[in-house]
Amino acid sequence: MNHFLMGRELLLSELNEDCLKEGNGIISKGFIEVGQQQTCRRCGSNQPKDRQAAPCTCGKKCFYCIRCLQMGKIKRCSTLYHVPEKNQFISIKEPILTWQGQLSQQQALASREIETTIKTSQTRLIWAVAGAGKTEMLFKGIEWAIRSGKRVCIASPRTDVCLELAPRLKSAFQHVEQITLYGEMEEGYSYTQLVIATTHQLMRFREAFDVLIIDEIDAFPFDTDKALQFAAQKAKKTTGTIIYLSATPNKQMRQDIARKKLNASVLPARYHGFELPEPKAIWTGDWRKSILKRHKKAVIFKEIQRLLQAKRRFLVFVPNIELILEFSCCLTEFFPDCSFTSVSSEDEQRKEKVQKMRDESYQFMLTTTILERGVTFRDIDVLVLGAEDRTFTEAALIQIAGRVGRHRDFPTGEVRYLHYGQTKALKNAITQIKKMNKLARERGLLIGK
Ligand SMILES: [Zn+2]
Ligand SMILES: [Zn+2]
Repeated sequence: MNHFLMGRELLLSELNEDCLKEGNGIISKGFIEVGQQQTCRRCGSNQPKDRQAAPCTCGKKCFYCIRCLQMGKIKRCSTLYHVPEKNQFISIKEPILTWQGQLSQQQALASREIETTIKTSQTRLIWAVAGAGKTEMLFKGIEWAIRSGKRVCIASPRTDVCLELAPRLKSAFQHVEQITLYGEMEEGYSYTQLVIATTHQLMRFREAFDVLIIDEIDAFPFDTDKALQFAAQKAKKTTGTIIYLSATPNKQMRQDIARKKLNASVLPARYHGFELPEPKAIWTGDWRKSILKRHKKAVIFKEIQRLLQAKRRFLVFVPNIELILEFSCCLTEFFPDCSFTSVSSEDEQRKEKVQKMRDESYQFMLTTTILERGVTFRDIDVLVLGAEDRTFTEAALIQIAGRVGRHRDFPTGEVRYLHYGQTKALKNAITQIKKMNKLARERGLLIGK
């Protein structure tokens, strides 16, 4: 049986030699054509704007899908190869779960709910605040699934989240073969029972997973990209389980929970039992002008000076890349003795700089929303400059506040939204964080409260 193709759906160019030799797959056309409607089999797009006509050797009126082009060109005349998932895994020696940590009270409850969801092939959202320890509560359910011979995938829209998850899963399931799939990976694909993948990579699967866990479902681009949502549905078996993880589920999901259309486990407390830092909104006036005119007395500079004097380490979130340069010049002028740096999505040294910030080589760091999630620093404060900007959505502001006080030894810290006019997103973010603290308090999950 061809393991390479099992549960996958690939173009000819993506197959290895064994696949071609064995030739026992199911073959289908790149597009499903019903009347005038043409739907890409890989990404589900049926929009004419997502198709590009192009001359082709097939001689017919040919076109290809633009929507999923980055995964390789899929043409009207392309053939896709697929072998149904048969779950042919070697049995794994016990213990399957080699993690020996302790779950908190709310983690243990969610862990049981996740296990039941997997056993009954249902769908569930785990709504857990930043720092709740969501990965650990998946372990029991994954253990059960692996022992039962099921195929499990943990996916995230973000490569860095996948890369951070992989070693944690490896140490929690030491005897279980796993692979991490992402765009720039160097090693080749192999058939494993446990898969970690970016949501883009799910496009190459069909009815493969009994259990599909999607982390950070509200993160870009999964939140708005229908092709990725289609790929997720396609990658799971029709009888499979989907578990969504999020600290900031969107309005639709929150409504579905309220209307009991979606099962959810809500975890309002952090694993260490301290409450979430509640952000303060501070009016700065026209902060852009303060930067341009070099007003050293302006609120934004006073805020930075205050943190510097208190010898705090901190992150300053700014609305866009262009601002970083101007603001950096200004800060170098005003605080010449201070060591700081900046990062953005366009920064090739991003990884190194984040590591240096972790190693405490800098006192602070300017960043775009690129660091809003997935990164953890010990003992930091956070300022959001221009919190009224529309890049700072409610979810982004909540995620940013979630960077503070994550470590057990440094569970507190300050979050300040510096704004020139409060937006709805900003008010909602603060309300949401307070609500979670209130819920945690009511449930008796906070230390000494
Ligand atoms: Zn497509
Ligand atoms: Zn063609």
